[in-house]
Amino acid sequence: MSRVYEPTDHVVEKSLLPSFEQYQNMHKESLEDPESFWSELANEFYWQTPYQRGNIVSYNFNVDAGRIFVRWLEGSRTNICFNVLDRNVRNGLGERIAFYWEGNHPEDYSRITYMKLMDLVCQFANGLRERGIGKGDRVSIYMPMILETVVCMLACARIGAVHSVVFAGFSSDSLSERMSDCKAKAIVTADGAWRGEKLLVLKNTCDEAIQKARDKYNHYVDMCIVVPHLDRVTPCGKIPDDVKTLYKWNEDVDVWWHDIVEGMSTICPPEWLTPDDPLFMLYTSGSTGKPKGVLHTTAGYMLYAAATFRYVFDHREKDIYWCTADVGWITGHTYVVYAPMANAATSVMFEGTPFFPDNDRFWAVCEKYKVTQFYTAPTAIRALTKFGDEMVKRHNLDSLRVLGSVGEPINPEAWLWYYNVVGQGRCSIVDTFWQTETGGHVLTSLPAATPMKPGAAGFPFFGVEPTIIDENGRVIEGVGEGYLVFARPWPGIMTSLYQDHNRYEDVYFRKFPGYYCTGDGARRDEDGFLWVTGRIDDMLNVSGHLMSTAEVEGVLTEDSNVAEAAVVSKPHPVKGESLYCFVILNEGAKFDADLIDSLKKRVRSRIGAFAAPDVIQHAPGLPKTRSGKIMRRILRKIAQGDKNVGDTSTLADPSIVDMLFLTRR
Ligand code: ATP
Ligand code: MG
Repeated sequence: MSRVYEPTDHVVEKSLLPSFEQYQNMHKESLEDPESFWSELANEFYWQTPYQRGNIVSYNFNVDAGRIFVRWLEGSRTNICFNVLDRNVRNGLGERIAFYWEGNHPEDYSRITYMKLMDLVCQFANGLRERGIGKGDRVSIYMPMILETVVCMLACARIGAVHSVVFAGFSSDSLSERMSDCKAKAIVTADGAWRGEKLLVLKNTCDEAIQKARDKYNHYVDMCIVVPHLDRVTPCGKIPDDVKTLYKWNEDVDVWWHDIVEGMSTICPPEWLTPDDPLFMLYTSGSTGKPKGVLHTTAGYMLYAAATFRYVFDHREKDIYWCTADVGWITGHTYVVYAPMANAATSVMFEGTPFFPDNDRFWAVCEKYKVTQFYTAPTAIRALTKFGDEMVKRHNLDSLRVLGSVGEPINPEAWLWYYNVVGQGRCSIVDTFWQTETGGHVLTSLPAATPMKPGAAGFPFFGVEPTIIDENGRVIEGVGEGYLVFARPWPGIMTSLYQDHNRYEDVYFRKFPGYYCTGDGARRDEDGFLWVTGRIDDMLNVSGHLMSTAEVEGVLTEDSNVAEAAVVSKPHPVKGESLYCFVILNEGAKFDADLIDSLKKRVRSRIGAFAAPDVIQHAPGLPKTRSGKIMRRILRKIAQGDKNVGDTSTLADPSIVDMLFLTRR
């Protein structure tokens, strides 16, 4: 039984949603009368044409009954860029800061108001239109975390062009594949950027990708728009006096950002989009295989982004919110750009890494801007615990109220550290479970309204009705564990995979007709908390006992020597499957027979004798996606000694794979 943490007065006082009862009532209403629930929120936004009353949503989730579709707010026309900029300015908030930009180097920072951002977006949007980009055209974005990235996304949204952001850590192969797949007309990038002391010459990667797109996919990109970023920031390592010598310039394709906006008007009529018009596409992280080009549309996504942000972060007027995710991921789309802006929030946008110039950068930035809500990933939290509490304690973090986690299940050890050390035992933790596909949070705690358990995602957000079913599609009521599925849509859910509706139906709807299948497992406990147990593919069945990898990993990381753990199954002649565990140790810890023994004992006593690991391997690092998630399918191959590891293009550091084969036991 895990301890239940109740929200403290620090969080509950002045909260938008201060009680569990209120959450329950609202949740009930959102399911029983979605029309009244969502139309109330819709009234806050600008609709060029309102939706047809009585038609808030139509959908089919049953593959056996015909084509899968979801349509929210049928008949409506709106524009998200207009809603997050012009609407706020018209409401008198033009002078409010939209973003504090904090560069990789602590001396580089700036800020921008809603009004100024609107002007820049309109100019850039006009520039794109002038160069022949319009509604339905795809624009790839391969950018560092700079304000132009936001400008570019919003400018696309304004003119109905479909942005496809590719995380600027991907290789030219991955970029060329993604921009060819969506037939991007243009790509927007920067000359380069610093990540810590490492210089990334993004322009070169783009050039290679453009070349590869031609050679390999016969796809020609018309235009490569380049932001000259390097000259305006403090160098964090060696760099030539003339940064332009770092890359080539191709007159046929390349154009400077400032040449696009020069002379452009700050007035730009938006394109009014229907619920069938695409807003953006984004490839999933690629943790489990070939990335999927998830497609989102405007109306439902906008409402859902706005609502989740407001309630999950309990957003208030003077808050300073900071989400550390890169815009290359869905978290960056929804919770760096669209959702905070839909609430006229003031955010921090951060270009750097948690480790530069020192390992306390996150806390220094929280202190500098008096951040009230801080949102990051378990992988970052685990990495930072390694440097000790003092790194956190040297900063004044009294402004913090809500701490968010996203991307993977957070192990209870990391949760407790986040809660006690970063949050000083008085902030609420929101462990937000969601996917690129869901558009926004679907399971989460709410800061002042729901109690918390370390490692549990908590409760469904408004409009979300989670179902847990077993392998045979039988619904598990009450306490139990199985597949996490949804029988009805909420407004943020994707509408298709880009130009691959068949794959959309196959991947998400075929397994259990009538349900959207997340591919994740979940457990409902005796108090009604939902726990995400990890990918269904990662479930283990040892001698007939079904187990989740997350559970075992949580136990391994309880040991103070272990910084991070990843558990996979290895076929076993008797037990069916056995546990193969990879552990990363904390600084100064020793990997020896005693440690192995005590880890095995710990798992035995905490979970059961059947769960005793067969192998514990010391890992210098783990294969992770560029968004920091552990790729367990590769670890499974290593456990089996099978060198045929498959697609590794989404891996952050492919050399880890060889290293792990070498240290295999
Ligand atoms: P791919 O679909 O290509 O394999 P991916 O699933 O990692 O990649 P994302 O959409 O970025 O791509 O991640 C969503 C997944 O991340 C979820 O399905 C879930 O497995 C995991 N996840 C996200 N947040 C949480 C959370 N709070 N708790 C547990 N798991 C989470
Ligand atoms: Mg996924």
